[in-house]
Amino acid sequence: MNIILLGPPGCGKGTQGEMLAKRTGLMRVSTGDLLREAAGKGTALGQRAKSYMDQGQLVPDDVIVGLLEEVLAKPETTGGVLMDGFPRTVAQAQAVDRLLEARGRTLDWVLFFDVPDEELLKRIMGRAAAEGRSDDNPEAFRQRLVAYREQTQPLVAFYRARGNLVDIEAVGSIPEIAARVQAKVGM
Ligand code: AMP
Repeated sequence: MNIILLGPPGCGKGTQGEMLAKRTGLMRVSTGDLLREAAGKGTALGQRAKSYMDQGQLVPDDVIVGLLEEVLAKPETTGGVLMDGFPRTVAQAQAVDRLLEARGRTLDWVLFFDVPDEELLKRIMGRAAAEGRSDDNPEAFRQRLVAYREQTQPLVAFYRARGNLVDIEAVGSIPEIAARVQAKVGM
């Protein structure tokens, strides 16, 4: 089973993704985690990505598509993947289609976590204090929200038209949202 977690920054898809991965045994892949790891190690890719990340901008598609090719070629992903934080552009969505199809896999669900902007800002400020991420400051967050609205939100219509988008009301407590995910996905 292959599932995409889609939603604005701070919508809680990372937390819900981890819980869903535990329940289903699916491998969770987060491009944000992979990029932060690469930046921490100081690899060429990481250094290139970091300047975009710190400004709240999307890392260019060629970098991400290269990462996805590597990840989806791993044998651990044959049983299915929970895609957290990608695709974030139409070009990335097309790459995911192509990479899955080339391996005879299909995309089952796109879980769309929607949250009002004021609620997102509140959450992101809490996370900045707790985790100290360098892109969790008001300026970078605003930019991430702009990038989301302009480049990622069009994917909602893209997947809805295909009929595999599932709306999750991502407001409330973590267990409440997890229960909604469980009810919709059946696990
Ligand atoms: P995240 O942890 O998913 O919030 O991602 C943190 C940052 O990493 C984003 O603000 C982007 O700069 C970058 N990033 C993560 N995933 C992607 C992606 N699929 N496409 C472009 N940039 C990404």
